[in-house]
Amino acid sequence: MLSLQHISKYYQNGPNKAYVINDLSLDIEEGEFVSIMGPSGSGKSTLLNIIGMLDAPTDGYHYFIDQPVHQLKEKQRSALYKQYIGFVFQAYHLIDELTVYENIETPLIYQDIKGSERKALVADMLDRFGIVGKKDLFPSQLSGGQQQLVGVARALISKPKLLLADEPTGNLNSKQGEEIMELFRKLNKEDGVTIVQVTHSEKNAQYGSRIINLLDGRIESSITL
Ligand code: ADP
Ligand code: ADP
Repeated sequence: MLSLQHISKYYQNGPNKAYVINDLSLDIEEGEFVSIMGPSGSGKSTLLNIIGMLDAPTDGYHYFIDQPVHQLKEKQRSALYKQYIGFVFQAYHLIDELTVYENIETPLIYQDIKGSERKALVADMLDRFGIVGKKDLFPSQLSGGQQQLVGVARALISKPKLLLADEPTGNLNSKQGEEIMELFRKLNKEDGVTIVQVTHSEKNAQYGSRIINLLDGRIESSITL
């Protein structure tokens, strides 16, 4: 599904290059569930953002769904992102002024999907996530667990092949976190969604099929479970 080849990302620091990602190569196959771990500052979020085309590496080759991402223009990358990728953030990133319903609907509006179809898709998602009764509430009226469910529903509404999640349970209690991880497991096993998550939690990492440990922007170890 994707291939990173000799990827580096550095910031110029006077005459020196400060490497955040350092000559990293990684292949991820369709259907995998990969957990990225490593100490703070090891480059986990940067790597996830590069995979999601939200950040560009300074060097290297990046292929996604057979497309050479490193050669694409911003507009083409953005189209690829919209078609194939869903992103879940630690702090949810919901729009405070929009209801649950409207938050989930937003990606469909960006994709120019017509009103009646949007309605059906959002209704399905609300039903599936058991949040039909919350559809007219605003994010501030929900618990953290419920807000993250909305964040995941929004990420999934356009049926992405690749779900990326940066510390998706970082702001949740352990019960809420487990619910999100069980949901990810189901998406991966039953719906075939490829998942890459960044996590500090060994327990959450175990939900994956592979654990990658980063250190100083390099892969220190890769363990298949
Ligand atoms: P992690 O997710 O593992 O905590 P990050 O991917 O957030 O790590 O990246 C960490 C490193 O990138 C940090 O050491 C940070 O200092 C460095 N970094 C991020 N942005 C910049 C920048 N604009 N200039 C210099 N260094 C940066
Ligand atoms: P969860 O099912 O996500 O674990 P909680 O047990 O934290 O939710 O919350 C139970 C109920 O309390 C929810 O239905 C939610 O509407 C309400 N609630 C929780 N936190 C808040 C909050 N910060 N503001 C408003 N309502 C909240």
